Amino acid sequence: MSGYVVAIDGPAAAGKGTLAKRLAAALGLPYLDTGLLYRAVGRRVLDHDADPRDAVVAAAEAEALGADDLARTDLRGPQADFAASAVAAIPAVRAALIAFQRRFGAERGAVLDGRDIGTVIFPEAQVKLFVTASAEERARRRFLELRARGIQADPDQVLAEIRDRDAQDANRPVAPLRPAEDAVTIDTTMLDADAAFAEAMAIVRDRLGESVP
Ligand code: C5P
Repeated sequence: MSGYVVAIDGPAAAGKGTLAKRLAAALGLPYLDTGLLYRAVGRRVLDHDADPRDAVVAAAEAEALGADDLARTDLRGPQADFAASAVAAIPAVRAALIAFQRRFGAERGAVLDGRDIGTVIFPEAQVKLFVTASAEERARRRFLELRARGIQADPDQVLAEIRDRDAQDANRPVAPLRPAEDAVTIDTTMLDADAAFAEAMAIVRDRLGESVP
């Protein structure tokens, strides 16, 4: 591997994506939002009017995933969130997506964010961050994000959906959401995006020393 891998895991709406994009730009590395892969598989299953918990259909759609699927504009929102989390609990779906993620990071290093990057996809990643925040704060951010996109939402329902998805992601038998043993946790409940970025850069520098730009 020519570059290095920064693995960022954590629950929904903790600020992983914003942080990962900024880190990738600062470090000159490609960025992959691995949640998009599961969202795109879930969307393909919904296109067939099938149940995202149907392992046979979901695995076939994961095998058939193409670049166009990742560019779709309907990969976010409550229905896509639920479908992504449901297909992500199916071992054959996860297995079908492993090679793509490993290839992406192996070419010249990368920043990847998801749920199992530091534990399963790149257990040897040079830097592992676990980005989290309280469920209430994450629900508040998700509510504001939906409103900014013109989507009406009920704050209590957004919080309930966040809690459901946390439970589904953390309790599944395969690749459950949990920090890697050598991950450093960043709790963003009281941090804005700049403060989270500064904390993450300090951790990256601590791990990688002089090689960081
Ligand atoms: O990160 P995001 O919220 O877009 O992910 C959507 C869903 O995809 C998550 O709730 C999780 O179930 C699944 N996921 C996963 N492993 C990853 C990335 C996402 O299981 N590496």
